[in-house]
Amino acid sequence: MNPTVLEKGATQIEVRKLSKVYPNGLRALDNVNVTIKKGEFVVIIGSSGAGKSTFIRSINRLVQPTSGSISINGRDAMAASGSDLRHLRRDVAMIFQQFNLVKRLTVLRNVLMGRLGYKSGLGLVYPVFNSTDVDMALASLERLGIAEKAYIRADQLSGGQQQRVAIARALTQEPSIMLADEPVASLDPETSIVVLDILKRINQEDGITTVVNLHQLDLAKEYADRVLGFKGGKLVFEGSPDEITREVYERVYR
Ligand code: ADP
Repeated sequence: MNPTVLEKGATQIEVRKLSKVYPNGLRALDNVNVTIKKGEFVVIIGSSGAGKSTFIRSINRLVQPTSGSISINGRDAMAASGSDLRHLRRDVAMIFQQFNLVKRLTVLRNVLMGRLGYKSGLGLVYPVFNSTDVDMALASLERLGIAEKAYIRADQLSGGQQQRVAIARALTQEPSIMLADEPVASLDPETSIVVLDILKRINQEDGITTVVNLHQLDLAKEYADRVLGFKGGKLVFEGSPDEITREVYERVYR
């Protein structure tokens, strides 16, 4: 199935009976069932160690689940290997808490990394970016309001600016899904709002399905279309932000 033909509201990510047991025997995910629809902005909440990161990383297979199934855009994501896995990771962009930029490279060069998934063979080893790639990267930086930083080394930027570069890199991948693993945990409260506003705007303008881990409940309530609550590797809540009652809070965080 071509992801671009998915209608808003169609099932895009389908997770069934997903479990992850780490080699040390720790069960980080326990029989999780989740369906995420095209265009949704889903926020995952839960205490530290609840399994949020393991869940989000399973979706693009940075973590290899132990059992269960994950279907993305109608394709089996658990079985993907080789070029299928590359295509999956191109279609499912990821934002990290620590931004994961190559610090000594320029901002533009970092954003161009988002085009790597479209290269093959030697082009992967010695990537040559054409003018279309550069135009796309510059347009992403423009959209994120940091085009003037294009030729500056990434490590010269503030944390909030670095996260914007990481989002520009993700956009340059032309993904249909954006995953964000604690994207604001290293940022101050004001910058956190700037970054979440950007993710929400991209979600609304481009229809990119967005799944974000957040440990701050107030932010989750403000930004989410739907909230998933994890505890001890289990999905213990699934609902709209206004369904998060005191009882739900206790169930998720106590
Ligand atoms: P969260 O994102 O909610 O903080 P994680 O998914 O990071 O939770 O972790 C869930 C559980 O799995 C925690 O108990 C954590 O210590 C454990 N865990 C995470 N990664 C590994 C690993 N590579 N090896 C062993 N245990 C891990």
